[in-house]
Amino acid sequence: MKDQFNRNIDYIRISVTDRCNLRCRYCMPSCGVASVPHGKILTFDEIVRLTQRFAEVGIRKVKITGGEPLVRRGVLDLIREIRQVSGIDEVTLTTNGVLIGQQPELAYQLAEAGVSSINISLDTLNRARYEMLTGSDGLDDVMRAIDACCSIPNLKAKVNAVTLADYNRDEVAELAALARDRNLDVRFIEMMPIGLGKDFKGYGQDWILKELEAVYGLAAMDENDCRGNGPAVYYRLEGFCGRVGFISAMSHMFCGECNRVRLTSEGLLKPCLQYAGGTDLRRLLRNGADDEILRDAIREAIYNKPQHHRFLDEIDDEMEGQGMSFIGG
Ligand code: SAM
Ligand code: SF4
Repeated sequence: MKDQFNRNIDYIRISVTDRCNLRCRYCMPSCGVASVPHGKILTFDEIVRLTQRFAEVGIRKVKITGGEPLVRRGVLDLIREIRQVSGIDEVTLTTNGVLIGQQPELAYQLAEAGVSSINISLDTLNRARYEMLTGSDGLDDVMRAIDACCSIPNLKAKVNAVTLADYNRDEVAELAALARDRNLDVRFIEMMPIGLGKDFKGYGQDWILKELEAVYGLAAMDENDCRGNGPAVYYRLEGFCGRVGFISAMSHMFCGECNRVRLTSEGLLKPCLQYAGGTDLRRLLRNGADDEILRDAIREAIYNKPQHHRFLDEIDDEMEGQGMSFIGG
């Protein structure tokens, strides 16, 4: 459906858990956060019922996220059910990759359950830095996960690296090189000032592109898929199998073309990741709302999606105070 600014909203990110097996410094405190009690997390039946309503108002694509979505028991069954919801054309997943690396058959099972694309988050190829950033010695697992995903036909693989001035500025060429011999896209995601991310400095796409061109030669913008499914812009580098992409919410604001909303694991429908609160769909579900009431609440939330984020305004009232593990990225 269209929102009040005539944007077509057809994509939802569904966070299936607030829990995670890593502690990325910009996302979760090293001591963790108090987990949401199980009873407050949406059940699979509730998620599927909401997905049916989302589909009825025009949502076509679902991204499963977290926390770490693969730590939720039974997530394959949930994915299978979501994929079968009438109107949902695409189910994708974002993960830190650790569990796939430990059980590479999981990549196949995810594809078999209906996942067509997996984003694997990896910010550094340096083992000590990886451990410092995530609190875990899981770099080998993530590399195994990347190769497991790349080996499956019909499964698109992407690596997402957040730009962290103090951690990976000197690694952009190496990170991009993951796409040289593999058929995957490496995307650089600009650090956003949300939760603990406020304390980290990022860097922008123009600088990265110059750096990559200095090493690999001129990059050509991939016009075919430039704004296909979302905010990423893609470039091709000479001799690379895959592409390099940029998601630059800060330096290249893309809110005018935003196509997405978010559902937290507690059932809050958030029309924009930066603003606090949202529509409490769990309350409606558990108070016996019928399908029409749910649909109307979803329609109203989507219609009233804010025009743009206000990261650059440095104002705190109304702004999201929760971390990214709560919102789902
Ligand atoms: N655990 C999964 C993962 O790491 O992919 C899914 C959830 S995680 C919150 C989703 C994505 O959000 C990750 O790629 C992570 O790097 C990114 N992220 C977390 N905090 C961020 C921030 N402040 N700015 C930009 N991206 C962020
Ligand atoms: Fe966990 Fe993903 Fe957050 Fe890292 S970015 S702590 S893997 S939810």
